[in-house]
Amino acid sequence: MEHKKRVLITGGAGFIGSHLCDLFLEKGFRVACMDNLITGKLENIRHHLNSRDFEFIRHDVSDYIDVKGRVDYILHFASPASPADYLKYPIQTLKVGSLGTHNALGLARVKRAKFLLASTSEVYGDPLVNPQPESYWGNVNPIGPRGVYDEAKRFAEAMTMAYRHYHRLDTRIVRIFNTYGPRMRRNDGRAIPNFICQALAGRPITIYGTGRQSRSFCYVTDLVDGIYRLIMSKEHEPVNIGNPDEMSLLELAGLIIKLADSRSEIVHKTLPIDDPKVRCPDISKAKKMLRWKPKVTLRQGLSKTVNYFRL
Ligand code: UDP
Repeated sequence: MEHKKRVLITGGAGFIGSHLCDLFLEKGFRVACMDNLITGKLENIRHHLNSRDFEFIRHDVSDYIDVKGRVDYILHFASPASPADYLKYPIQTLKVGSLGTHNALGLARVKRAKFLLASTSEVYGDPLVNPQPESYWGNVNPIGPRGVYDEAKRFAEAMTMAYRHYHRLDTRIVRIFNTYGPRMRRNDGRAIPNFICQALAGRPITIYGTGRQSRSFCYVTDLVDGIYRLIMSKEHEPVNIGNPDEMSLLELAGLIIKLADSRSEIVHKTLPIDDPKVRCPDISKAKKMLRWKPKVTLRQGLSKTVNYFRL
């Protein structure tokens, strides 16, 4: 009888999912990584393919999920997550947040597994409160281009809570704020990979709108540490995980130009519809309940990410 606990990570070949595969293997779990590879990459998990504790299952979680054997934890991370991706795959995004979450919850129920939902700061929409505490209900446009992601994740949270209350499932919800680091796709369309690739190639840095909109960026190892603490904790209400070091996109571009030792100039492009004007997590709850706070500074994290993109 295998004594190691087994975790299923949906979206396990994605940027965050693959870092979770690394972490859980390191902590002595067996990992089943499920991904349909529409935005995930086999490259992200190739280093585990020969490990006896690792298994890759190519499957779309919006279709019925069948996993043989024991499953102790399910981390549901499958979803396109960059604005460019969910604009390209609007129906798949809605399906994976709704049908995919329902299937993953159903599997958790059958296996009596603990379930963790990857939710997002997008549930707060274009927030009227800054920073955003978990108690804020958000300001989301359901029919705008981002609605496919925001509403799917809001539905996913509601579904997760319903399984908790109705089926007594042991659940967790993490609201993930902007995260960056190695294994982001060069062309995923988000600010950090765009700016770094542009800076390294000496091409103009594309700032959408004035660049005065704010974000705060969390390095991926800090994020997965917070997620691990959350699943091992008793906190079943949503918890924000992100870095509260808020800055404008112009400041971010300036720092990346400096770290990449680049001469790129800045050009302004049209601001996408419903682009949030501010975003910053209130992490008081994670600090108190999980004894978690980010450790990696933006400078340190960006240097590592610039080196990754240099290769
Ligand atoms: N952004 C930008 N230039 C780019 C890509 C993004 O100015 O080449 C802006 C985008 O409009 C947003 C911020 O950067 O205000 C963060 O965008 P990202 O796509 O990284 O994620 P979001 O926080 O919008 O989900």
